[in-house]
Amino acid sequence: MTTTTYRAVQVSKPGRLDVVERELTAPPPGKVRIRVEACGVCHSDSATVDGMFPGVTYPRVPGHEAVGRIDALGDGVQGWAVGQRVGVGFLGGPCGHCEHCRGGDLVNCRNQEYTGIQHDGGYAEVMTAKASGLVAVPDDLSSADAAPLLCAGLTTFSALRNSPAKPADLVAVLGIGGLGHLGVQYARHMGFEVVAIARGADKAELAKKLGAHHYIDSATTDPAGALQALGGAKVILITAAGGQMTAATFKGLRPGGASIVLGVGPEPIQVSSMDLIFGSRTLTSALTGDPATGDATLRFSALTGVAAMIETAPLEGAADAYAKMMAGKARFRMVLTMNRPPAGQVKKASNRLDRSE
Ligand SMILES: [Zn+2]
Ligand SMILES: [Zn+2]
Repeated sequence: MTTTTYRAVQVSKPGRLDVVERELTAPPPGKVRIRVEACGVCHSDSATVDGMFPGVTYPRVPGHEAVGRIDALGDGVQGWAVGQRVGVGFLGGPCGHCEHCRGGDLVNCRNQEYTGIQHDGGYAEVMTAKASGLVAVPDDLSSADAAPLLCAGLTTFSALRNSPAKPADLVAVLGIGGLGHLGVQYARHMGFEVVAIARGADKAELAKKLGAHHYIDSATTDPAGALQALGGAKVILITAAGGQMTAATFKGLRPGGASIVLGVGPEPIQVSSMDLIFGSRTLTSALTGDPATGDATLRFSALTGVAAMIETAPLEGAADAYAKMMAGKARFRMVLTMNRPPAGQVKKASNRLDRSE
């Protein structure tokens, strides 16, 4: 190592992102130090950037879709090697000894921190991460391609993989944004009959391109009625945050079906007990996924060609990238790249869908 400092983008106080120089430190026991190559910009970063999460202390480096190479191991780290490319998602790593970990429910570990919220995340050239939370990155995924799959990808992949839907079942994805455009692709490649639901006729073409068999324009069509006309959905993946749309689509479930809420928003969800009970329907949710499912998300994506449509920006452009994402203008995920790659490589990393045209 030639330098003893690295660049990071920190939230100095809510609403302010500053590029700073930090001292390199050795990783503490149980953690690894990572040379970050790419980090996705996620809506949940607002927890830190805009102070939307209670108890965040500043300065804090946001970012929980980080990919890079391990360059130092803390004491006691097993199963990971210096030079290995790894990913870090929203869940900072399970403790392994609490009641939930002991029962195999790693997502709900009582001692788990959130990356970029309770400790520094991936808007930086270097970060430290708990070994128990690391995800293995396959060689055939570029770091920029892998980054958004660690949160948006894992969330949709894990929810579908753990859902009651089986191949050939009707699965609806509500919303075609950062999460939804991945959800549609995963649903298609898992062998479901896929319905995309969004507002406006202009999204129909994109929905088809992502792999949807059907498109429902919720601005002109009652989505529940349209789903029932197709036989009723076994699963509805709610990737948009609106409580009203969640309720409006709920009647589109077939008996035994489940609506799975992935987008966090302030609106309450009102579903009638009649619709719940008569048909044994379920309203449930999912919080990203455990590290092994993170491995599977990346492997599945590499195997099937599922990719986020990304726009890259250099680390020092983090504030602009964040603002673009918050304004809903990112198509569809912003990814910060640390070590500026040669020009040709930037194109290769971005937008696999458009390349195939
Ligand atoms: Zn996220
Ligand atoms: Zn635990």
